[in-house]
Amino acid sequence: MVRKWFAIPLWQRVVGALILGVILGLIWGPEAETIKWIGDFFIASIKMLVVPLIFFSLISGVTAIGDLRKLGAVGGRALLIFLVTSQFAVWLGLGLGTLFMPGVGLDQSRIEMGEIPEPKTEGWREMILSIVPQSPVQVMADANVLPLIVFALLIGIGILMAKEEGQPLTKIFDAGSVVMQKITILVMELTPFGVFALMAWVAGTFGVGALLALAKLVALNYAGCFILIGVVYVGLLKFFAKVPVGDFFRGMIDAIAVAYSTASSSATLPVTLRCLQRNIGVSPSVSSFTASLGATINMDGTAMYLGLATLFGAQIFGVQLDFADYVMVAVTATLGSVGAAGIPGTGLIMMTLVFSSVGVPLETIAFVAGVDRIMDMMRTVTNVTSDATCATTVAAQVGELDRAELVSADDV
Ligand code: ASP
Repeated sequence: MVRKWFAIPLWQRVVGALILGVILGLIWGPEAETIKWIGDFFIASIKMLVVPLIFFSLISGVTAIGDLRKLGAVGGRALLIFLVTSQFAVWLGLGLGTLFMPGVGLDQSRIEMGEIPEPKTEGWREMILSIVPQSPVQVMADANVLPLIVFALLIGIGILMAKEEGQPLTKIFDAGSVVMQKITILVMELTPFGVFALMAWVAGTFGVGALLALAKLVALNYAGCFILIGVVYVGLLKFFAKVPVGDFFRGMIDAIAVAYSTASSSATLPVTLRCLQRNIGVSPSVSSFTASLGATINMDGTAMYLGLATLFGAQIFGVQLDFADYVMVAVTATLGSVGAAGIPGTGLIMMTLVFSSVGVPLETIAFVAGVDRIMDMMRTVTNVTSDATCATTVAAQVGELDRAELVSADDV
């Protein structure tokens, strides 16, 4: 029995669990919350990996790149792709909102209002300041990922600058990174159980009824994400990375399933890294660097949704937005998606930042809060796919993609 279970490739177990979870949730209804703790246990186990994994793998990634000039080439390319794709994403959200007008004619009485999160008062100055890892230990204890990344990058750069004298540290961080990957393999065996429980909970809680009132917004959120994945990322993979798109998605399926069920790109990061390195053939240095950075600052799904939700709110409350407002939304949504942590529901919190910049009432957030999770799941898949696409494209361009690995991804 046990041997038979392990003989099935992990991704098949995960997809099976996802489907069974949805079926159970639909049959069981809200009671399915009883087994949510299994999903929480799974999320807690992967969260445990995030800080040490980012820390070790980012440093070992930077040192493996070898010299500062190459680091600049990888970093510059990654940032360019992040920026271009997130601009495309916000404008796509704005376009979908303008074209399909999800907030017009909405029957508000059929919507269960959620809570309005605390307004995000941070301006861009505070945002920049918060990147500085004032106390690295504190940053780790709080799992504050952005300053942690900065700290890890600085250590990596320091080691490269120290050349020979830095070598002993390189070995230590390399070893730490390998150990963390081994622990990831262990934790990933929990994936089918976690995904099963989380999907049962989501399907049981939201059911089909809750979605109907906000169906247009939910549908547009999914459509926007599918356009980003099917057009932008597939385009990048095909024309810039030149990799077989089917194999790419098959190789990433574990990460996609974990992203969908946990709604957290940070929690998915260990799985994303493993898929990239083991199934896609992206070198550890480029994948650690690009995907870790991307999990924190690159959130196309969230950026797209922020654009869409702003128009949704403006339409409900009859706020007129002109082109200058659209530009404002594009800027704040990009900043918001950069500053957002990769955890469930941050898109909702970032709405306060975007809405207040163009005068859309914060009550809109209460409208969408009830069904946010179901949209968050797809946004997170988009965010993770975007990071993986970017890592693969950069790797292909700087010669760090092992194509043989990608094609032989049949034991995923
Ligand atoms: N949950 C998303 C993520 O982790 C962020 C969001 O709320 O849009 O990627």
